[in-house]
Amino acid sequence: MATADNAYPFAGIVGMADLKLALLLNAVSSAIGGVLVRGEKGTAKSTMVRGLAALLPPVPVVPGCPYSCDPAAPDPGCPAGPHAGAGAAAELRPVALAELPVGATEDRLTGSLDIERVLTAGTTAFQPGLLAAAHRGVLYVDEVNLLHDHLVDLLLDAAALGVNYVEREGVSVRHASRFLLVGTMNPEEGELRPQLLDRFGLTVQVTASHDPAERAEVVRRRLAFEADPAAFARRFAGEGAALAGQVAAARARLPRVDLPDAALRQICAVCSAFGVDGMRADLVTARTAIALAAWSGRDVVTEEDIRTAARLALPHRRRRDPFDAPGLDEQALEEALREAASQGPDTPEDPGPDSPGPDSPGPDPGPENPDPSNPNGPSGPGNPDPDPDPNGPGGPSGGQNTSAAPPASSSSSAAEAPPSAPAAPAAPFRARLLTVPGVGEGAPGRRSAARGPFGRTVGARVPQSRPFALHLPATVRAAALRGPHTPEPARRVILAPADLREAMREGREGNLVLFAVDASGSMAARQRMRAVKGAVLSLLLDAYQRRDKVGLVTFRGAGAELALPPTSSVEAAARRLASLPTGGRTPLAAGLAKAARVLAAERLRDPRRRALLVVVTDGRATSGSDADLARAAATLAGVASVVVDCESSVLRLGLAERLAILLAADRFSLDELEAGPGLAAVARPRTRGRVA
Ligand SMILES: [Zn+2]
Repeated sequence: MATADNAYPFAGIVGMADLKLALLLNAVSSAIGGVLVRGEKGTAKSTMVRGLAALLPPVPVVPGCPYSCDPAAPDPGCPAGPHAGAGAAAELRPVALAELPVGATEDRLTGSLDIERVLTAGTTAFQPGLLAAAHRGVLYVDEVNLLHDHLVDLLLDAAALGVNYVEREGVSVRHASRFLLVGTMNPEEGELRPQLLDRFGLTVQVTASHDPAERAEVVRRRLAFEADPAAFARRFAGEGAALAGQVAAARARLPRVDLPDAALRQICAVCSAFGVDGMRADLVTARTAIALAAWSGRDVVTEEDIRTAARLALPHRRRRDPFDAPGLDEQALEEALREAASQGPDTPEDPGPDSPGPDSPGPDPGPENPDPSNPNGPSGPGNPDPDPDPNGPGGPSGGQNTSAAPPASSSSSAAEAPPSAPAAPAAPFRARLLTVPGVGEGAPGRRSAARGPFGRTVGARVPQSRPFALHLPATVRAAALRGPHTPEPARRVILAPADLREAMREGREGNLVLFAVDASGSMAARQRMRAVKGAVLSLLLDAYQRRDKVGLVTFRGAGAELALPPTSSVEAAARRLASLPTGGRTPLAAGLAKAARVLAAERLRDPRRRALLVVVTDGRATSGSDADLARAAATLAGVASVVVDCESSVLRLGLAERLAILLAADRFSLDELEAGPGLAAVARPRTRGRVA
């Protein structure tokens, strides 16, 4: 396959071969469950997915059916049906690639049921959505990590059932929806929710090659592709036809492939060594290994199949916490495979305490592998060398790991005491819910109250455009009040489009949580900084769950710096926090002024996202005057703020309290940030920084 890969437009992208293999294996065995493509910006992830989808074999469909019914077994409930039974007319259609934009409405995904038409004309009208378009094809979500939870839930339901079920006000439509789910994401913009992550059968990491010659070739081919896509497509049409034949042959072989007991034991041993949750990992690895054998034209699963399957199926399943990037330690994989293989089928039933070597605790995703950038490799299957290329992504030059490096401490002047080594954060806890008061209109999330398309119904109004959700009682009431009614004696209400009322819903939005963290000498006592970092980490973990954007301003020494511009990547914030150096004077006013500038800029960029400023300090300003502080606080007027009081001396100065008054902010001690049992359930409005 190596030559075919070299011929492909995007050769030179590390992980390309894996991506292609992963998609083809899914084409062979749909039970594998899709592919997640992880890669930094500019690795042409989307282009690759679209290009590769075109290589999948075409599907026979019932002519004219928008739901792509299979002529061999048409969906009996097809909304476009009924179709003639098996053996009806068929046409070949290229595999559909339905693309779900992250900002899509629910209707766009599931299809829309025109309830207005049901009510006013008495006929059911269903406009199929992307789940219909993707049936027997590919459903592709770019930036899948930014997809709203509500759409994620719908997607997961459809994927689990193989059916799309749409219901509005008691009228329902259903149609088959089985698709190959492909998602791409840039991990720098935030991780995927665990339940969605687990849904993806396989993961592929793509990175740009570091070899200048390869990079040049990528550019050359991209330019050729852009100059004449048709000619380019012709060049690869032959490959597409060959692959289609290969997929068909592998599909036919699939039911015959044997998974020997020893191979199954090896799969389960590997999964258990990697500490995966549940049984899905074992199942997906087994299915992938079987598909690989079929793809290679074999009837028996080999260790090689298992190795490749594990590399594709496990990296995203061995995660321990959300700040831990997915990845697979290839050496640990080899060890697990070896260990399982050495315990032959003749091993007696007893657990064998005599087994050589101490029970390996399994691969510890410890600090030695903080950002695995796992080179799933240019090395095709079968290269046991974990990192054959010294310039590869895992190599010493590994340029993409720069984000893990400590931020340049440009603000520390030479006269200041040198910063001490960064203190490691204390273990995070479940944080108290901090919210922005009032009702916003920001992106859906889980922090502050917001009006929007989701949530519980709080009222009805005359819609400005087509109503998103109908408020039925209000609609009927409007019609009844308007009249006229059908003649006596029935006097039934007649519904007209003008009577339609839209439901107003209130849910929750995500916010921008900007941390302004005091990293000065007065905070630098090691234990205290550990506690402070632990508290901020807890708030970050909370922000991750609530779909917030986060940013980090730090101040110490001569000034303040934006350590992390507002991002959805809580992982990036956690990394910056862990490596945050401390020491020097406390330019509190500069910190506040910097925060105000960041918030003002962000308001221009994303006006509907409301901000919450969390100032973490002991309030002891040792640089700048009181007037400076008051001026800086004034620039933050109108910003919802919280002061986390880090003062711990026996003789309390109450400086953080004074700052809280200046900012009209709520103040919490580090201990008070921890959510007590049940605390999150009660919301109590306050003037600033409402707390639940
Ligand atoms: Zn149909």
